[in-house]
Amino acid sequence: MGQNKRIRILDVPVDMVNNKQAMEIFEGLMELPGCSLIVTPNSEIIMNATKDTELKMLIEEAGLIIPDGIGLVYASKIIKEPLSERVTGVDFLNSILAYLEKTGKSIYLLGSKPANAESASVAELAAQNMQIKYPNLKIAGTHDGYFKKEEEAALVDEINESGAEFLCVALGAPKQEKFIYEHRDEFKHVCAGIGVGGSLDVWAGTVKRAPKFYQDHGLEWLYRFVKEPSRYKRMAQLPLFMVKVLTTAKNSSV
Ligand code: UDP
Repeated sequence: MGQNKRIRILDVPVDMVNNKQAMEIFEGLMELPGCSLIVTPNSEIIMNATKDTELKMLIEEAGLIIPDGIGLVYASKIIKEPLSERVTGVDFLNSILAYLEKTGKSIYLLGSKPANAESASVAELAAQNMQIKYPNLKIAGTHDGYFKKEEEAALVDEINESGAEFLCVALGAPKQEKFIYEHRDEFKHVCAGIGVGGSLDVWAGTVKRAPKFYQDHGLEWLYRFVKEPSRYKRMAQLPLFMVKVLTTAKNSSV
């Protein structure tokens, strides 16, 4: 720990790490007292952080800031502090699950859609599939992501009573990061928490991850846009982000 470099993109910090280095930092965080926050910013989150002071502050305080997005890799090249690769949240979660299985530390899955008449909740389905891939993984509990503010105290109690040492939160960004940050001092056993967006849906099989071609060419955003055109407003942030990075780099070099 402590050897990795933290670069700043639009004045938002990002750790210069690949998957292996990110895991080394993560393992260190799991040994520290208190609950560390892990964030996985993409260009949309960086853009939001330039306007949302709470989001910016929590990223500044995060124990690990993983570059999750091809836009960040391009931006890092523009500012001449190139990131070697993007570390996708989905791949990083896989590495975390393998570590948790190996060490016997338990995970709590919070977020995504509740159960309905036809199916268990997304978090429960994700738990079942994680258990198939990682048979010795200890899943301390699950809860859906549609709760009211006044229900949060009971939810934190439930997470504490479960004994979970790692918290995986799928509420969408930045709600998930704010949830972990706001409650970090109330957790009794949780050593670290991460916001994973739609990853529980992918684990549950309710949403498909982009095919490998899209993943390999940094085009997951395009696949997602084709599947969910209603996200166009959010996706319009990517070109805006690139323009902002370019103009900021140009202005600072004159
Ligand atoms: N979600 C949730 N509670 C909410 C809003 C969203 O549990 O109040 C879940 C939603 O069901 C989905 C995930 O959060 O599983 C958001 O996924 P998305 O891919 O949109 O994440 P983002 O791209 O915003 O990180």
